Amino acid sequence: MARELAESGRPVYIIDRRRHIAGNAYDELDAHGVLIHRYGPHIFHTNGERIFEYLSQFTEWLPYEHRVRGVVDGEDYPFPINRDTLNQLYGLDLDESGAQAFFESVREPREPVLTSEDVVLNSVGRDLYEKFFLNYTRKQWGLDPSELKAGVAARIPVRTNSDDRYFTDTFQAMPKHGYTKMFEKMLDHPNITVELGVDFADVRSSLDADHVVYTGPIDAYFDYCYGRLPYRSLRFEHEHLAGLARYQSTGTVNYPNDHAYTRITEFKHLTGQEHSGTSIVREYPQADGDPYYPIPRAENEALFKRYEELAKSETDVTFVGRLAQYRYYNMDQVVGAALAAAKRLIG
Ligand code: UDP
Repeated sequence: MARELAESGRPVYIIDRRRHIAGNAYDELDAHGVLIHRYGPHIFHTNGERIFEYLSQFTEWLPYEHRVRGVVDGEDYPFPINRDTLNQLYGLDLDESGAQAFFESVREPREPVLTSEDVVLNSVGRDLYEKFFLNYTRKQWGLDPSELKAGVAARIPVRTNSDDRYFTDTFQAMPKHGYTKMFEKMLDHPNITVELGVDFADVRSSLDADHVVYTGPIDAYFDYCYGRLPYRSLRFEHEHLAGLARYQSTGTVNYPNDHAYTRITEFKHLTGQEHSGTSIVREYPQADGDPYYPIPRAENEALFKRYEELAKSETDVTFVGRLAQYRYYNMDQVVGAALAAAKRLIG
């Protein structure tokens, strides 16, 4: 939004309470020179050519297709569940139509499909649900899948072929020199000033702006007047393994049933960097801490709607992003939302 407003001739003043730009997409070299994502893995994928082209103004790309394995009872399997997952797990030799027939025979039809439990049981049945989804979801959200809207588990496809990519979007690539460099270029405009380490809450009463674009939690903006909107947080445990070129076979390995962390990501897969050592991150879900995920449940969305009503009367403020719109946006979706909001504002 800042870039678009700047290009339309408006002066833009950006503040962030953190001491760096790029938000949660921030990446940096760790103490050992490995490019890591401080706030957990960010993997860019989109079907929106316009969005890909927009970002391409600020970065070259490195093609990257993310792959994930899920560990169950000490064995790792392709995840999302595909034909090979079934064959490996159950000692079968199914072809595509065999895999389809298998899912048909084990699924528990649900009508209507409202919750994440419904989504998974309806497509792959109870055994796969319990092995790959139930405990991961409990760990990630602190909730049972039956307490989360369908959209959460529906992020994960089920496949009858052997495609083991995590995403199937047309454009799958990482910014060649990292996200931070991409954002540096985006913000490099004579109409943009950036000030870091400045908290909106501390300066809001003295801000002299015609319009504010607010990307923080919407409940905080309104002083929690209707109570707190729940957000899920994570603790990231980064580790460098000196002298080990490769830690795991895929970018991410999920641990649905073991450990307090949900997954381990090894950054060199994502970034293509060559280095004699490697750096990994473990994600430990928690209730407190920086808000990373809105929690998609009907009661939370109802509370958000009340805040959204208040937001409508703030005509000189635009609320955009995961926290301000209380939406489980992917990166490409948030770029789309920002571009649309900028267009509305510029008119
Ligand atoms: N999920 C799961 N098991 C897995 C991976 C994902 O049950 O091995 C469920 C879980 O509820 C998770 C959701 O699917 O929150 C979406 O997963 P995704 O990988 O898209 O989450 P994100 O990368 O946004 O944290």
